[in-house]
Amino acid sequence: MTNKNMPVQGRNQVIIFLGPPGAGKGTQAERLASEFQLTKISTGDILRDHVARQSPLGQQIAPILKSGQLVPDDILIALIRDRLANMDNIRVIFDGFPRTLAQAGALDLLLEELGAPIVAVPLLEVPDQLLIDRIVERGRQAVQRGETPRPDDNEETARERQIVYHRETQPLIDYYAARGHLKPVDGEGSMDDVYGRIRQTLG
Ligand code: ADP
Repeated sequence: MTNKNMPVQGRNQVIIFLGPPGAGKGTQAERLASEFQLTKISTGDILRDHVARQSPLGQQIAPILKSGQLVPDDILIALIRDRLANMDNIRVIFDGFPRTLAQAGALDLLLEELGAPIVAVPLLEVPDQLLIDRIVERGRQAVQRGETPRPDDNEETARERQIVYHRETQPLIDYYAARGHLKPVDGEGSMDDVYGRIRQTLG
């Protein structure tokens, strides 16, 4: 399918997925990335990988991830700068970044330097209580499969992540709306339904 508004191979472009913890950003971003040959950059995955490898950064941030608080902005900004510096084409979907106004401002500067425009900011909207239920269920399912659940996929930390989201990340909604990039999407329903809605807003 072709559409003049959809990402074109080879051209720099950036999509930023916004939404509260548990909204399903990671899964939807993954699917969009594979459909349009974009690279998904998930800061949560990158940080968890550092923790798993017990790198110096991993050791520093492990307690922060466990608590549901945010890792300091300068760490995230340096990490993203490094990733983008090593790419030939900046064709990227961000999942979990930016998460504060400071990160959003730094990303704007970086993308301007690199000549990579933000083409859309889908926002997955899901009611708070449903999010907690999903996160707790995700933790439970990991245990059932015999895996170690994410240290922050429990009710107490999920609530903390939600508070942090409302305080630190929600202001980004206005930030990107003011720039004409925001695409609100109803995040309730099946994965396929939600993906269909995302595709529609991008098309
Ligand atoms: P979720 O969106 O479900 O909270 P993530 O995997 O995106 O899950 O993030 C997990 C944790 O990683 C966050 O609670 C936070 O501690 C850390 N983190 C991820 N991205 C960022 C970021 N951009 N800025 C600060 N901390 C981050």
